[in-house]
Amino acid sequence: MARKPPWLRRLALREIVRLFELAEKRALSGDMDLSNRYVQIARKMSMKYNVRIPKHLKRRFCKHCYSYLLPGRNCRVRVRSNPYPRVVVTCLSCGKITRYPYLEEKKNARRKKTSRKD
Ligand SMILES: [Zn+2]
Repeated sequence: MARKPPWLRRLALREIVRLFELAEKRALSGDMDLSNRYVQIARKMSMKYNVRIPKHLKRRFCKHCYSYLLPGRNCRVRVRSNPYPRVVVTCLSCGKITRYPYLEEKKNARRKKTSRKD
């Protein structure tokens, strides 16, 4: 199928961001079911309109069961540095884990440090 026109995709992106805001609000007030439903709708919109879910929002839900993740409530977040630096997120709804490497961030920090000395 043809790509959706840019104006429509822009609108879809705005709607996705809004849905995640709603999901967060619901999760904070304890209504996880509704929160997960918002994530579901946001994902469907992103697929229908060919819009990527922004990186920072992609990490707000579980890649396996698509439930909204709220640290301290339904997910566990840990940082591990060996053998490579990564953030480990354990979803407490399905028990699966997702890892996000942060090697690049570490390299950039080191670069900044050395350049400051010059
Ligand atoms: Zn999960």
